[in-house]
Amino acid sequence: MKNLKLITYPHLALKTKSAKILVFDDELKKIIAQMKSIMHADKGIGLAGNQVNILKRIIIFLSDPGDSASETITLINPKIISASNETKIDKEGCLSCPKKEVEIERAIKITVLGRNENNKRQKVKAKDLLARSIQHEIDHINGKLILDYEKN
Ligand SMILES: [Zn+2]
Repeated sequence: MKNLKLITYPHLALKTKSAKILVFDDELKKIIAQMKSIMHADKGIGLAGNQVNILKRIIIFLSDPGDSASETITLINPKIISASNETKIDKEGCLSCPKKEVEIERAIKITVLGRNENNKRQKVKAKDLLARSIQHEIDHINGKLILDYEKN
């Protein structure tokens, strides 16, 4: 398998909607393992498949964004099943848009469903920065960047 690397704006993969994963094989596990290495090396709190030019619906993120040693959670085909009406505007950065910060309004609390690399169902309840991080990564697999929130 090729070595994956982080891509940055304006790479076309960042603007592309990723495909649902139907096959949970060793190739998928290798992709996820590489994504984890890249996220940690670049001191990110989350990473999406699109950011390593893999157009599949994979996101990973630190379970505690304030602690780089916290567990990394993998969600395949993630779907937000509930979101709080209460939102917050805060600055967001992105490994694929270096030196850029954009103020984005996000739901404060969300519940997300997905699968792990073994096709086991995962349900994640998140709030605050973790909820923001997950919403940011789900944007990525839909081809959306923080730059798309910029007001002209
Ligand atoms: Zn990002």
